[in-house]
This record gives sequence, structure tokens and C-alpha cells, in this order.
Amino acid sequence: MPYNAPEGTADMLPAAARLWRQTTDTAAKLFSTYGYEPIDTPLFELTEVFTRGIGEATDVVGKEMFVVRSGENYKRALAAGDDSGLKSKQKLSLRPEGTAGVVRAVVQHNLVEQGAAPAKLFYAGPMFRAERPQKGRLRQFHQIGAECLGSTEPTADAEMIIMLMRFFERMGVPAKSMQLLINSMGDEHCRPAYRESVRQYILDHEGEMCEECRRRADTNPLRAFDCKNETCAHVMAGAPKITDHLCDDCREHYEAVKSLLDAAGIKYIEDPTLVRGLDYYTRTVFEVQVTEGMGSQSAIGGGGRYDKLAEAVGGRPTPGLGFALGFERMVLALEAAGALSDTPKRVDGYIACVDDSVRPTAFDLLCAARDAGLTVEMDHQGKSLKSQFKMADKLGARHVFVLGPDELAQGKARVRNMASHEERLVDIAAARKLLAHFGGQPMGAASTPVSLDELFSSENL
Ligand code: AMP
Repeated sequence: MPYNAPEGTADMLPAAARLWRQTTDTAAKLFSTYGYEPIDTPLFELTEVFTRGIGEATDVVGKEMFVVRSGENYKRALAAGDDSGLKSKQKLSLRPEGTAGVVRAVVQHNLVEQGAAPAKLFYAGPMFRAERPQKGRLRQFHQIGAECLGSTEPTADAEMIIMLMRFFERMGVPAKSMQLLINSMGDEHCRPAYRESVRQYILDHEGEMCEECRRRADTNPLRAFDCKNETCAHVMAGAPKITDHLCDDCREHYEAVKSLLDAAGIKYIEDPTLVRGLDYYTRTVFEVQVTEGMGSQSAIGGGGRYDKLAEAVGGRPTPGLGFALGFERMVLALEAAGALSDTPKRVDGYIACVDDSVRPTAFDLLCAARDAGLTVEMDHQGKSLKSQFKMADKLGARHVFVLGPDELAQGKARVRNMASHEERLVDIAAARKLLAHFGGQPMGAASTPVSLDELFSSENL
């Protein structure tokens, strides 16, 4: 029986894989103009990095982590019947998000030296959450994220938000279909009292709330703002608002971020119920939602400030902030907006064979053309000449090099311009020599590869 990919995962077939590469290329180009450099961290970390960093009481850590059993810890866990006998250094989990691992790496390698410029890093790759799969919610999905460590300034927050919005715009998500929500979650001075007032509010309304929210009152009361249950949502609409409880410093910071966004012409909606699911956020939080065609999974990206996270993973106090955007959700948003265009596989040229006797020469030319940096294809299935032309057409070849035994006997081949249908005889040895001249350049060499137009307009042929 053929196997299917595991539930909640999706194969990235060529069109999707191409789009993923285009997306990461666009991110790399755009983010580099903001001073960001790439970083790649392992797909799994010590579980503690996530429990300490993201928080044990969050859904992501408490319910959705994939625990990795390596050879050693698998044997031990098997012998003990569970994980409990494992030392914390033996417990590994697949990363449910990118921030905790990046901050762990920043701390480990001391990337934010005292007094030095902030570390600005971006990543792209798969994340893993054992969620109930549905449209826009996968168990393996792909995020692109950016982190900036070493700045408390509101300009860093505004820059991060602007960079995220510009990225979506550049990818073609229409500005009118996006909605940017922002909030401040306060800090260690004002949040505890606020948290307590929400806890008290939930307890006062216990009878009207779902079991999960009642439980959240003690573990993570702010998460009750995210409850999908209608009655809970109704009750929570009347809950105390963080923005009424911010300390002076947090208020000033929040006001400064908003006025920077105003000045940059970035539209936003203040949402005092936006708390985001992870424990590590302090002060600014933001989320980009798509207003149409996304069902309940409308958030395409989000992030915030996490000034306490570096300490939580064992580092010096280091302020930081970041965002992550979901590739699959962004694709759904592009689809919904009719803005998804595929760039099909294309070739510069095609080498067609009139019969089998010319195939060795065709293959030699094919190799030389590729060495010269051209995207060239030939038939590998013994197809008729007519089918080869059809294939060349399908691949968008601008030129077809037709090798026939009669012409070959005189060292010649026909080249057909597929647009004008013009054909001319060219000298194979001269073409080969020209290709060899351009071939064999190391990657990144200054000379650009030859174009077929250049090649066929050459006086040499
Ligand atoms: P989060 O780390 O939860 O803030 O997620 C950041 C972004 O990743 C979200 O806005 C989504 O676009 C995307 N995302 C989060 N969880 C999933 C999931 N299970 N499947 C697909 N995309 C997701």
C-alpha cells in the first residue's frame, strides 16, 4: 500500500517549493536592507529551552510539543516506562517556534556584546506543533522570522513592524486585505498586578466560563482572551484592559512606537485583548491578520518584544524583539486575494535530435551549454522530433538547436528561433568553442554566463 505524508504535514511539490525559495529570497533581500543577517539553529533543542523560554503553561509548550527520543533517551525512557527518569539534558523537543532557539544561540555565542550594536538575525525553516490539523494549521509548517537583540528603543519596535508589513506587501498580499493589530503587554513592573486583576475577573465570572478558562485563571489568565468559546469571548470583552494598567515607562514606550508607525504611514488597530500565546512577550505585541478567505486561521504573522527571554534561557539581561510569519498561511492569503502567480519551469534552449545517431553530439553540447550557465534540456525518452518540439515549446525554450545526421556530417546544426520561426545553420565547432569559453567559471566569478541570443547572434557562428 502506498504511504501518505503524516497527518498535518504537506509535501512541498515543485510549485510550492519554488514559492518557498522565492519567499525566503525576498525576505533575505528585504531584511538585509534593515541590517539583518541569516542564522540557522537546530530543528530540535533541549526541551528546557522551550519550557523556560516560551513557558510551560502555554499551549505551544504544554500541549503541542513533539518530544524527540534519541537512541539513548529512547532506551532509558522505554526501560522506565516514561520520560520521567530522564535528566533534563536528555530531553529534546522539535522546535515549535524559532525565537527561543535563536535567543539560546545568541546567549551561547555571546552575539550581543556589551555596548555593541544590536544583533539582527533572521531565519526560515520548518516548525513543529502537535496541533489538530485544519486549513491553515499544520503540524509541520514553515516560518520566516526576525529577531533583534540589544535594543530597548521604540524605534526598534517600529522598524520590526514596518519590515514585516513591507515584506507582505512585497510578496503581493494586498495592503487592503491586511489588518495590523498592536498592543502593549506591560513589563515586570505593571504586568503582575494586571495579571492578578484578570485572574480575579475570571474567578468572579467563573460560572460563565469554560473549564479551560477556569483553569487558566491560575496558570495563564491572559490566555483567556484567546478563548474561541463565544461566552468566554463575551465575558472577556468586559475584562480589565492592560492599556489602563501600564506603568509610566511602558506607556511612554507604547506611545512612542505608535507615533513612529503613524509617521511612517503604517495603519494599525489598537487591540487591548491581543496577548499572543507565548509567555515571553513584554511591552509591544503585534499581529497581522488577513480579513478575507482565511477562516479562523487569519493570523499570517506576529511578534513582539521579549525583554526577559535572554535571562530565561540563562543569559545576561538582553532586551529583544522579533516576529514570525507563517509561509503556508501567507500562501492562503495570496490565493484568497488572487495574487498567487506561479513561475513555471523554463529553459533557455532545447537540443532536439533528428535521430539516435546524433545523440552523443547533442549530449556533448548539452553539457557544454550547462557548464556555460545556460538552462538547457534535451530529450531523454527517445521521443519523435515532433514531440521534442512540443516539449521545447512547453518549457518555453526561445531557441531549439536541431541536430540532424546530414547537417552534422558537415559540422553544422540548425537553430530555430521559436518566436520568429526563423532558422539558420550554425557551425557546431564554433558554438562548442564559444560555450567552452564561457564554461568552467567558478560560481560567483565576475563574468556573466553567455546568453543564447548572444551566442546565436555571434559573428563566429
Ligand atoms: P506564533 O509563533 O504562534 O506567533 O506563529 C506565528 C505565525 O506562524 C502565525 O501567525 C501563523 O501564520 C504561523 N503558524 C503558527 N502556527 C501554525 C500552524 N500550526 N500551522 C501553520 N501556520 C502556523
